[in-house]
Amino acid sequence: MAENRKVVEPHGCIVCGKVYNMLVVYSPEGNLVNCTPTDSGGHRVPDQDRPLVACDRHGESQIEAALAKHYPGRAAEEEEE
Ligand SMILES: [Zn+2]
Repeated sequence: MAENRKVVEPHGCIVCGKVYNMLVVYSPEGNLVNCTPTDSGGHRVPDQDRPLVACDRHGESQIEAALAKHYPGRAAEEEEE
């Protein structure tokens, strides 16, 4: 049985663009399973499709606004669940 694939990828903070190294886990099918920033000062932003990160210093409303700006279709996608 195939195993999940773990890779470290650089991802920019969704609000300010600061780059964090992320440990990202993909399923054998290539779907996002989990992700965690390996650098301190940032945290994962929950998203079912992509590894997203934001600095701890950004408020929730800032993160939501940035998400809406970068991924306008995101809210609609979530309704499919
Ligand atoms: Zn930031």
